[in-house]
Order: sequence, then C-alpha cells, then structure tokens
Amino acid sequence: MALPSNPTDFTLAEAREAVSSKKISSRELTGAFVKAVETARPLNAFVTETSDRALDMAVASDARIAKGDIRPLEGLPLAIKDLFCTKGVRTTAGSNILSNFVPPYESTVSQNLWDAGAVMLGKTNMDEFAMGSSNETSYFGPVTSPWRARASNAKMVPGGSSGGSAASVAANLCLAATGTDTGGSIRQPAAVSGTVGIKPTYGRCSRWGIVAFASSLDQAGPMTRTVRDAAILLKAMASVDPKDSTSVDMPVPDYEAGLEAGVKGLRIGIPKEYRVDGAPPEIDALWSQGAEWLKAQGAEVVEVSLPHTKYALPTYYIVAPAEASSNLARYDGVRYGHRAKNARDIIDLYEKSRGEGFGSEVKRRILIGTYVLSSGYYDAYYLRAQKLRTLIARDFTQAFQKCDVLLTPATPGPAFAIGEKTADPVSMYLNDVFTVTVNLAGLPGLAVPAGLTAGGLPLGLQLIGKAFDETTVLRVGRAVETAANFTAKPERWWRAA
Ligand code: GLN
Repeated sequence: MALPSNPTDFTLAEAREAVSSKKISSRELTGAFVKAVETARPLNAFVTETSDRALDMAVASDARIAKGDIRPLEGLPLAIKDLFCTKGVRTTAGSNILSNFVPPYESTVSQNLWDAGAVMLGKTNMDEFAMGSSNETSYFGPVTSPWRARASNAKMVPGGSSGGSAASVAANLCLAATGTDTGGSIRQPAAVSGTVGIKPTYGRCSRWGIVAFASSLDQAGPMTRTVRDAAILLKAMASVDPKDSTSVDMPVPDYEAGLEAGVKGLRIGIPKEYRVDGAPPEIDALWSQGAEWLKAQGAEVVEVSLPHTKYALPTYYIVAPAEASSNLARYDGVRYGHRAKNARDIIDLYEKSRGEGFGSEVKRRILIGTYVLSSGYYDAYYLRAQKLRTLIARDFTQAFQKCDVLLTPATPGPAFAIGEKTADPVSMYLNDVFTVTVNLAGLPGLAVPAGLTAGGLPLGLQLIGKAFDETTVLRVGRAVETAANFTAKPERWWRAA
C-alpha cells in the first residue's frame, strides 16, 4: 500500500497500518494533525482544541506500540463532537448555558475510543444542543465548510448539527470524528461535506454521557473519509452499556470483514415517495445513477413503497421538540451551567438563566415541545405523532420483505451559503426530509459521497438497512463508494485566510 506523502491525508485504515507497523509514530502523526487544526482556525470547526492532551496520549500510545501492546485504534487522532461529555474537558453542546461545563465523567462512546487507544484532538463545533442543519445555531458561531462552489468565495455551511465534525473530516484536520444523529445530524453534514457518516441502529451505541436532545431518536456514529473507516470506527464505538438501558446486548460484528463481499444477489429497494417535487434534477439523476451502479455490480433493483413518508417531518418536529423540552428542563442555572447574575428570587433565577443561556432555535423547540405535551393538545399532537411513528416504522418492515437495503438521496440539495436559510426555520427543517424517517424507525442509515453538482459541491446517497444490519449497509455503501470513485477534495483556501 503506497501511503500519501502528507500524514494528514491518511485514511484511518492507512494510519492504523502505518502507526502499528512503526512507519510513523503516533507523536508525529498527531503533531501533523495538531498543526492542521491550528491552521484551520478560520473554519471555526473546533470549540475546544486539546493539543497538549493529544500529544500526551500519542506519546503514551507510542510507548505501548514499542512494547507490542497495540489496541485497535492505537495512536490514531480523532475529533469528538462537543455533545459527548469528556472528563475534565469542557463540553458545551454548542450552548451558552453549558459554556462553562466541565464534566466529571466520560461518555461511554468516547471512553470506548480511548480504551481502543485513540487520541483526542479536541471538541468539535455543533448546532446548539444538536438542533439545526447548518451549524449556524451554535453559541460559538457558525462553522465554515471547507468546500466552496466553483468560482465563488461565498462561505458555505458544512451541514449540521455535526458540522464541526464534518468540516474537520473533509478538511483533513483529523483521521475521523464522532457525530450524533437525532434526525440526520450525521448523514446530512456528511453528505454535503463529501464525507461518509453512519447512524447506527438505535441501541447500537450507548447514549450515556451524551448530552440528550431527543432520547428516543439520538444515536452516536462515526464520520469518516471512507466506508472502511466508518466500519472500523463503528466497531470501536458500539457496545452494550449497563448505564444505558436502551443499549442492546448483541455482539458487535467485525464490520470491516464483510466490506468487500459485493452486492451480487442483493435486492436494493427504491422508495418512490423519496422523489420530491422541486428537488434539483441533479439529485434524481444521482439517485438513478446509484441504482445503475449497484445493478452493474449484480444487485437487483426493486421499487418499494413507504406510504407514510410525507408525515415523517411533521411527526419528527413534534416528537423531537417534545422530548427536548423535557430533557432541557434540567438546565436551571442551579445545578450546573450558566447562572444569571442579580436574580431577585428563584423563579427570576430560572427565567434569566434560561433566557440568557439558550439561543432562539432552542427556545423555539422548548416552546413547541411544551405546547404539544400540554393538556388539551397532547392527544391532538403528541399522541397522533406517536401513532404515525408506528406507521412509519411499519412501512419499513413491509418494504424490507421485498429488499435487503434501501437506496435514497441523502439530502434534497447541496450545501447552501451561511445565512441563506436562517430566516426561515421550515426551509431549514426540510434538509432532513430523507433522514428523519430513519430515526423515527430506529434503523441504520449511511451517507456516502457520490458526486458533485455542476457548481462543484458534494452530494451523497443514503443507504437504509434493517435493524442491526449495519454490515449490509456498509457493504452496499462500499459498492457505491467504489463505483462513485469520489476523489474531489476542497481547495485548502483557509491556509491563506
Ligand atoms: N436537523 C434536525 C434538527 O434540527 C436533526 C438534528 C439532529 O439530528 N441532531 O432537529
């Protein structure tokens, strides 16, 4: 295997091989990424850089490697979304209300990564409490995508809410990153940033120590440059966890092992309801192209129907805010987080702390959530949304009687300019039409880069699998990746910025 000359261009798989065979030390590799992170500050991809800790972790990894004690991610530098609690390292969830929060504990997923030998470069920027599709709701300011449209200097969004992670992976500031996905926050930013992201089945990764948004939808997952890297990272992140009763006690397969098995004989379902009016023709063309690629490799393509798809977005925007309003009740300025000064009494303290601590999108969600759960409206909104959720999940069960995996577009369009959609929350919510269904049904979904628009911006395809069948999703993803041969990279304009 010929390695790229610049270590920040390594894939996770290449770096694993290079570090464990001592072609490069973790110290040297980590040093290169620390420098890349510093140079890329104009992107605002990190809320907190942990360079000293990264270099210490790298030195410790090198000592283990010298002794031949090599764990699966030994010495490999990663970026962590700032929604994962990291012991002793500030964890903000992109919010002012947690801007001074230093957790006394480590999330299970990040602990799994450190136990596998990984190195932490820092905490990535994100939409506040993971609410958003563009990273513009962050208290710490928007992330600028490394991508720009052809012949344009306009600053583009990296997608959201895991925008800092997507930008870091796309700009080679880390080997890979963690994300979380409640309605699309791994897949949408991955797709519009030309990277790979998988939201595993609900329960595959522990939610313990991840700041909660909507607990019945939230899942952690990897964001990487290749499908193989996603397979490697998911294996390390996933586990059953006694501290999360919704994590599932099933063996974690070796996702990498089955990756090159090909798609011969697999049935690929095309859900006709995912063809939306007004979507750019490039999206449909890429979708058909994806089906052709899989057919050419021996898969059978079948049309399927998911009749309740049109209710998914309204259902999500009732269920997610309802759960968020309950989860966010804990931020009261008393137990931890931002505390308002000069409060007259306890009620005033709550009101001022929350008023100052939360941004407008978070307040909007709390208001909607409280409304749909209030007596008199509960039956009309929340209960009906729960019923629709069941029907949406049933659509998938029925579709999977006819196929092994579903192929859809990942997003209804490419990245947009910063500021373009902030005035209209509903147009922002529409970014997730193809992804929220998957969270409502609890299924695994993968975004793979598949092409560029005429304007030179990345587009992705989505593969949706049966519950706990990440193996097939990744295997088909690998087939799409091979056919698409997506090699475009953003120009590194930020180096001169
Ligand atoms: N964009 C969606 C929202 O704003 C999804 C966010 C997510 O998956 N965390 O709710």
